[in-house]
Amino acid sequence: MKEISCKVLVIGAGPGGYVCAIRAGQLGIDTVIVEAARPGGTCLTVGCIPSKALIHAAEQFEAMRGAAGGHSALGISVVEPSIDLSRTVAWKDGIVGRLTTGVSGLLKKANVKFIQGRARFRDGKTVEVATETGLQIVRAETVVIATGSLPVELSDLPFGETVLSSTGALALESVPETLAVVGAGYIGLELGIAFAKLGSTVTVVEAADRILPLYDAELTRPVARRLAALGIRTVLGAKAKGRSSGTGALIVEAAEGGRREIDAARILVAVGRKPAVDGWGLEELDLDRAGPLIRVDDQCRTSMRGVFAIGDVTGEPMLAHRAMAQGEMVAEIVAGRRRNWDKRAIPAVCFTDPEIVSVGLSVEEAKAGGREVKVGLFPFSANGRAMTKQGEDGFVRVVARADNHLVLGIQAVGQGISELSAAFGLALEMGARLEDIAGTIHAHPTQGEALQEAAMKALGQALHA
Ligand code: FAD
Ligand code: NAD
Repeated sequence: MKEISCKVLVIGAGPGGYVCAIRAGQLGIDTVIVEAARPGGTCLTVGCIPSKALIHAAEQFEAMRGAAGGHSALGISVVEPSIDLSRTVAWKDGIVGRLTTGVSGLLKKANVKFIQGRARFRDGKTVEVATETGLQIVRAETVVIATGSLPVELSDLPFGETVLSSTGALALESVPETLAVVGAGYIGLELGIAFAKLGSTVTVVEAADRILPLYDAELTRPVARRLAALGIRTVLGAKAKGRSSGTGALIVEAAEGGRREIDAARILVAVGRKPAVDGWGLEELDLDRAGPLIRVDDQCRTSMRGVFAIGDVTGEPMLAHRAMAQGEMVAEIVAGRRRNWDKRAIPAVCFTDPEIVSVGLSVEEAKAGGREVKVGLFPFSANGRAMTKQGEDGFVRVVARADNHLVLGIQAVGQGISELSAAFGLALEMGARLEDIAGTIHAHPTQGEALQEAAMKALGQALHA
């Protein structure tokens, strides 16, 4: 048994943990990071990156299939394409490999000691790690819990050969003929759309009465239209109730009680994620919880002195960039800098077709409490660049205070508009007013011009609508 001591111990090397460790190392703090699986965590290995790789491959394939019938408006024709999903998956795994190696390199460069193995708490400042070469004890002055999250399993549909979590869906080596997706949230729709483009017949079952219930209905309408165009069936207001023992079909029950069966060679269950808090001695610490989540304050401190928690294990929004921002902040706090969570907004991007971006308050949220607001919505049907990309369904919407025009929120839905999230986030973080956005020269022809036009429209000065 080996023993080491350090100033900071980070448990989990996902986006929260690895960023925290790198920043701590850069600040000259003696840092150790322990990871049970691969550096990069959920995001790099089975989440953000692999899903976006699959989505890209599916988009390419669908575009080629569209041209194969000879009906392409662009005048392109190709012979019927085919896809070898095992090669697609190998390509995706190559990207993951490059990124995880990159994270290892960055940790090394920042002088962070990486220990491979599952950590288990002995007490609030000591963990044991079962490594390949035996038990390693790590004692630390400060501990950062960054163990992330795991997919929620439904008791009637346990994960197995044909019932898949997102991890299983991202590793499929052939395209299932029929795919039932339980949950029309982020994962269900991002992957459901991708598999429909790859050739699966997809049915999405959602408990709420509309898709993507976390976004407002105006924002999700273009996605609903695209689902219909792709032939994806949506069964709304219904819950998955298990599989038929005979046919293997998915059984769903509508809110009012009717039952139906949905053919499904594979079932993807994507009904949310839960914090990774069980099975590694965390209960010994008796930290304050918010349900299963670890409760933290605005510096990510837990109820135990010298123990921080960051990322998915602390709850919503379970997004990689939130985890990273928390990780960077905690490293600086440990280094003695004065930091607390002072972000005005965390952008959310849903990589559906079309994509959705939301930063800050929606119209309804902004109006809460009787606040007067100005709203400007500019459609991509009036944006030249969107037309040249055949992406006219969608819009940019700006929400601002009516009295001083301070921008409270920006949302958009449209083809390939995830990159606009940077401009939206910057506008909010810098406290932009409608006049700031309207007065900024936006390059032509770009989809970003729709942001300027939306601000102008809110001011009653739109030029192109
Ligand atoms: P994780 O990334 O979950 O990392 C935690 C790490 O801790 C894991 O590597 C785990 O092995 C390790 N660990 C756990 N317990 C222990 C232990 N006891 N000892 C040692 N190590 C341990 N977010 C976005 O912002 N954009 C996206 O496009 C996006 N797409 C996604 C797509 C999918 C399919 C999924 C599943 C998620 C997606 N997410 C996306 C969410 C994103 O992956 C998470 O928000 C992010 O990974 C959280 O980072 P984290 O550091 O908190 O935890
Ligand atoms: P989610 O919370 O986005 O969606 C889950 C959906 O399942 C909800 O709409 C819910 O109403 C529905 N649901 C729950 N129980 C059900 C049941 N029994 N039958 C039918 N429907 C049911 O969860 P997710 O899609 O699993 O994603 C998990 C998390 O991962 C997200 O919340 C997000 O934080 C993260 N993520 C982010 C991105 C991104 O940023 N682009 C992509 C993927 C995942």
